[in-house]
Amino acid sequence: MSTGTASEPSSAARLRLRRRLLEWYDANRRDLPWRRTRDPYAIWISEIMLQQTRVETVIPYYERFLLRFPDIESLANADLEDVYGAWTGLGYYSRARNLRSAAQTVVAEHGGQLPADAVTLQSLSGIGRYTAGALASIAFDRNEPVVDGNVIRVLARRFGIRDETTNKLVVDRLWRLAGKLVRGPRPGDLNQALMELGATICTPRTPACGVCPLRRSCQAARAGDAEALPVKAKKTKPLRIEAVAGWIERRGKVVVVRRPHGGLLGGMWELPGGTIEGGVKPEDALRRHLAATLGLSLRRVESAGSVEHVFTHRRLRLHVFRCGKPDGRVRRADLLDHRWLSPSELSQLPHGGPTRKALALLGKASGEPHRRRVRRSLAELQS
Ligand code: SF4
Repeated sequence: MSTGTASEPSSAARLRLRRRLLEWYDANRRDLPWRRTRDPYAIWISEIMLQQTRVETVIPYYERFLLRFPDIESLANADLEDVYGAWTGLGYYSRARNLRSAAQTVVAEHGGQLPADAVTLQSLSGIGRYTAGALASIAFDRNEPVVDGNVIRVLARRFGIRDETTNKLVVDRLWRLAGKLVRGPRPGDLNQALMELGATICTPRTPACGVCPLRRSCQAARAGDAEALPVKAKKTKPLRIEAVAGWIERRGKVVVVRRPHGGLLGGMWELPGGTIEGGVKPEDALRRHLAATLGLSLRRVESAGSVEHVFTHRRLRLHVFRCGKPDGRVRRADLLDHRWLSPSELSQLPHGGPTRKALALLGKASGEPHRRRVRRSLAELQS
């Protein structure tokens, strides 16, 4: 495999590329709330929210989050449940947990100021190479590159990189290229220009080459095969997992359990259950999990159907059951916590995608919670 077939830009070509990108960005940049501030904290919040969520979805969450936690100290001092409450609906809750943890580190070790250099930034929870580059360049004007899916697409097409962009050597080369491009004035804008171009013009399908500022020098546009780039490794099939969850009611209250911190959906609340192993019937698997984790035995169990949820490398099928009043008193094992809650209290808790879908299947989803109700429910839970 070669990683050096496409030419690297000469110094003059690099300057031309920078100029075209910045001129295009100045004329076409979207007006987004985090682009109206120079506050590193606000920019950090936006970068974390944007990691796995679309721009349009992030905007209202970003604005509400900053009202609730206007600075690093308020986030560092916040109760984790309160941070989860502000995150409810955004998903990937480990981001919220890492944010608060990083804020505590910044207060304890950096005098409450977000560090400006990319290496120190990467020592904070939830900040990887991409986010460190984005923060260092956008908030602190450092010549640090960013490489995300949009940047990979633009660079692979512009420079005619036809090797698999998941290959480590190719990834290294893309970072080097981005590092060369970013050197100069306005590094944050240059990075945002590359990302914006990938998001709006150089899109995965039908890129708008006719209005692209790079069209005259773009190798993929010249070869007429832009849509074939970047070349990605063939996807491995996601691992299929089957699991069960039960809606178990006693005297108008439903039992919910909390997953251990760390790992997939760490710290989230969900209906009790677990994975199905070794061809066991779903209903039997539910009975076994309930006995093993909560010490409860079920009498009536009735299928409500199933839901599917796709994680990065896993596809989960969750069989959902309505259960009658259980026998026994709760004896908890391997679970962080459990609660008996009214259905409305339950729907206000932070839970992951599979549980949201299971509640919708059961007709128990309540949409986005009213914030005062959320806070009250969470406060009650902690008391
Ligand atoms: S010319 Fe087309 S393929 Fe090349 S960078 Fe622009 S939009 Fe992408």
